[in-house]
Amino acid sequence: MNIVLFGPPGAGKGTQAKLICEKYFLNHLSTGDLLRKESSKETSLGIQIKNTINDGKLVSNETTIELIKQFINENKNNNNNNNNKGFLFDGFPRNKKQAELLDHLMESINEKILCVILLDVNEDVLKERIMNRSTTEGRSDDNLETLTKRLHTYSSETEPLIEYYSSQNLVRKVHGTGEISDINQGISSHIEASLNA
Ligand code: AMP
Repeated sequence: MNIVLFGPPGAGKGTQAKLICEKYFLNHLSTGDLLRKESSKETSLGIQIKNTINDGKLVSNETTIELIKQFINENKNNNNNNNNKGFLFDGFPRNKKQAELLDHLMESINEKILCVILLDVNEDVLKERIMNRSTTEGRSDDNLETLTKRLHTYSSETEPLIEYYSSQNLVRKVHGTGEISDINQGISSHIEASLNA
């Protein structure tokens, strides 16, 4: 099964992604992680990615899709990997083009998206969480200036996908504040309901 975890920066996607992947034996595909890894290389592509991330904008679809294809090819038939029951997409897709490409990608490997979990968190909480995270994780884009741009990118390019997936009846909204375990329970209930539908 394949799941999309959707929501603004600071919604808790990374934390919940890890828990869901452990529970349902899924590969965690975080485009943010893949891009950060690539950006740590001292190549011109790496530097370009780093600048885009620090500017709160989206990295080009070409670069992002290339990294995803590589990740899927490396992981889809990997029997040494326990998490081979499917993919959990964290931070992808982030615009309409990426959503269409994901549809094609799923089709090409004879798979589909089970559901899109939308983590719903209000903007004040997002800001508070990201500012707290800035003192622990050391991400160069976790500062108020970049966060403001990331939130703007989310509302202009990513949020419209809720409509794209709602029209396919795939969106399951989960309130993303409170205890991590309660949020996780909410997500699991939706996954299981979708599996049994
Ligand atoms: P995240 O770790 O998901 O918060 O992503 C951090 C940053 O990586 C984003 O602000 C973007 O600059 C970049 N990024 C992550 N995922 C994507 C994507 N699917 N498409 C384009 N850029 C992305």
